[in-house]
Amino acid sequence: MTSTPCSQCGECCRWLVLGEIQEMSADERRYHALRGATERQGLVLVEHPCTMLEYYRAEDGAAAGAGDLTDDNLARGIVRARCSVHGKKPEVCRLYEGKRRRDGMVFYIPERCTMAAGKKKQ
Ligand code: SF4
Ligand code: SF4
Repeated sequence: MTSTPCSQCGECCRWLVLGEIQEMSADERRYHALRGATERQGLVLVEHPCTMLEYYRAEDGAAAGAGDLTDDNLARGIVRARCSVHGKKPEVCRLYEGKRRRDGMVFYIPERCTMAAGKKKQ
């Protein structure tokens, strides 16, 4: 099954993967939880948007203002997010293709990711 194109929701660049739950001790998990981490899909994640994300309004391509940056606007595609260093982004970013694992890396696949296998573009 082929994946669909990226809808530029920015969600995969918003979460930092600290590791897999199954590889962590109870104490590590507790420590991460105390530091504000989230457990989801068997992963420990921190919400920390990449500083290289660039937000723009889908309607006219203009830079999104602070008031535009709501989760709802991103989820509905009213505001989109793109990588400002796309041509020079890190290798780990290039490996992301909407799959959990690739080349030894573990990725978080956001619910809204249109690149995830079997999902339709939003
Ligand atoms: S460098 Fe670009 S692709 Fe990589 S996490 Fe940041 S915004 Fe996303
Ligand atoms: S989560 Fe998927 S659709 Fe959203 S920006 Fe990342 S690759 Fe694109």
